[in-house]
Amino acid sequence: MTSNHPSVLAALTTLATDQVANFRRRQAAEAAEIEQWRREEEAAERAAAETAAHETLQWLTPDTLARVVTEEMWRGYPRHRGDGPTAVAHLGAGVYLRYATPGDGLGTVPGDLWLLQPCTDCGVRLSNPLWSDLDLATCLTGPNGLPTTCTLCFTARA
Ligand SMILES: [Zn+2]
Repeated sequence: MTSNHPSVLAALTTLATDQVANFRRRQAAEAAEIEQWRREEEAAERAAAETAAHETLQWLTPDTLARVVTEEMWRGYPRHRGDGPTAVAHLGAGVYLRYATPGDGLGTVPGDLWLLQPCTDCGVRLSNPLWSDLDLATCLTGPNGLPTTCTLCFTARA
């Protein structure tokens, strides 16, 4: 009887080792599945943000931005922490459009659009909400056609 013990233990050790290997394989497969799902989810969020940004331009600024910014110019980003998916379009000379998906992130409500541009004097980034073609014109030409500056630079000029 006692002579069987070593072989039983050896067999159990082999079985246990197989169990650990199987468990690790299943874990790796599950992790790969979750990663694949996350990538697909992010790709869908990026694409949805790009489409929503493009549609928002058609609606808010049909006579300016909608004429020159193509859907291909938008680069989408997935949701991050508390924020919904976003999209950014580069307009040149450090000027960007930023679109943020509203609350639920489902695109059932129009999102928010901003023009990000450097202060012409100090270069600090200014963020102006855009609701119309006129908003855009004001941002690009500044109040009364003056260069667009931050509050500090505007005050320093006065
Ligand atoms: Zn400035």
